[in-house]
Amino acid sequence: MLIHNWTPLPPLPLRRDEASGTTESLYHYALRMSDTCGISIHLLASILKNEAGEPGSRQSARYMSSWTGPRSHYRWLMEALMKLTGQPDLFRGTFHNVAGVLGRQGLSTRDGREHQRRWCPRCYLEWNEGTSFEPLHLAFSQLSTCPTHGVLLEGRCSQCGAAQSFLRSYASRRNCQACRCPLGHSGEWRELEAFPRWVDGVLRRFGCYVSALDDPIPEMRIEVFMAGLHKRILSGERLPPAVRGYLWNRVESRRRHNALPTLTQYLNLCAFQGCEIGDILERPEEVSSAFLFDRADGFTQVPLRRRDIQGNLAMIGSCMDRLCSDAEVLPPLALLCREFGVWADVVREHYPDLHHRYRSRYLAQNGEFSRTHVKRALERALQVVKMNECASGRERQKDIALQVMQVVQVAPELALQCAKSITVMREFSKRIPSTRVDFPFNLQGMDAWQSGK
Ligand SMILES: [Zn+2]
Ligand SMILES: [Zn+2]
Repeated sequence: MLIHNWTPLPPLPLRRDEASGTTESLYHYALRMSDTCGISIHLLASILKNEAGEPGSRQSARYMSSWTGPRSHYRWLMEALMKLTGQPDLFRGTFHNVAGVLGRQGLSTRDGREHQRRWCPRCYLEWNEGTSFEPLHLAFSQLSTCPTHGVLLEGRCSQCGAAQSFLRSYASRRNCQACRCPLGHSGEWRELEAFPRWVDGVLRRFGCYVSALDDPIPEMRIEVFMAGLHKRILSGERLPPAVRGYLWNRVESRRRHNALPTLTQYLNLCAFQGCEIGDILERPEEVSSAFLFDRADGFTQVPLRRRDIQGNLAMIGSCMDRLCSDAEVLPPLALLCREFGVWADVVREHYPDLHHRYRSRYLAQNGEFSRTHVKRALERALQVVKMNECASGRERQKDIALQVMQVVQVAPELALQCAKSITVMREFSKRIPSTRVDFPFNLQGMDAWQSGK
């Protein structure tokens, strides 16, 4: 007997809400799939990675952006999931179709040293096991309200104030990880100021636009748009600083020639041109050539807060410096970057010499084979140190090394060196000042915007 429609993974459809036009993020889909199969999301990621022919690593799918893109290895996760579930439209839960025209900054990726997520308390309160989902829109860190309910998104437990990890499973993520209280409640509805309201509208429509696209937007579209703006500068028109600055970087500076506009830059362009992000991507020539509305007077720049990573950068710099001079075993840079919440390319640009020194020493310290073992030992040491911080008392480095050796086959001396390096790393990463703001706007910069309307 031939079994039709059989798929290796259950053929769960991606969820959608017709009324609001929102679509489930692939990240939430993966959590739901893991729950259905009774496995962890890490195991699911390993299975997908094997399917895609990548060597199994459990660290590679930790962030929402690992699953949704636009810059990460989302692609092989997405393609393997589509294949194993037989669901051809899973790309609608990702930024796949705008990956060629959207920079990764400004999407909720890694914020400070915690991997914090935001959620709609009303969505959680009214959760329906058969239909509910967390939408792709939650990837926008500038979004203030739920695209379905209009209540303010939250980033902390309303009972105890604890931030919540991205990594919580489907079954447990709607309860606080610290006090176990439900995170769902009726939520706060607030009349937003003109500006955040405008941003929410643009992002809500952009999220729906992305999910509705059938094919990728070619990078040429953004080139055409930029060329149109550039022509206007050349003909003597005065563009606002935010737009001019970005154009300058893109057109004149060789170093950032290939940098794609970030979400914040798109918002600036939209505010200036009075258009939607979808307009720029669909009709770049027309939209770049003139104002759609006459309202650019007094516009300087969108008053979004920039994420302040100076503290993170300072600490990772000091830590790399210390490890270079003291440590026998250097952790991989990727592990440091994850721990300090910064991107590797930012570290390289900020500390070119130190980065070079660290990397050369790292590459020199082990052969290809033992590197994998050392990596595992370091990851395990970090786990032990973190678990130990949640409990009380201080584990000595020897005890950490013993616990590492229970899981990873390394020599006692090496385990001890790994424990030492990780202890040093945690000393520095715990000193990063907390700069997290839940509301993404700097409202003091809004006068110009409002008077310009
Ligand atoms: Zn909601
Ligand atoms: Zn709580």
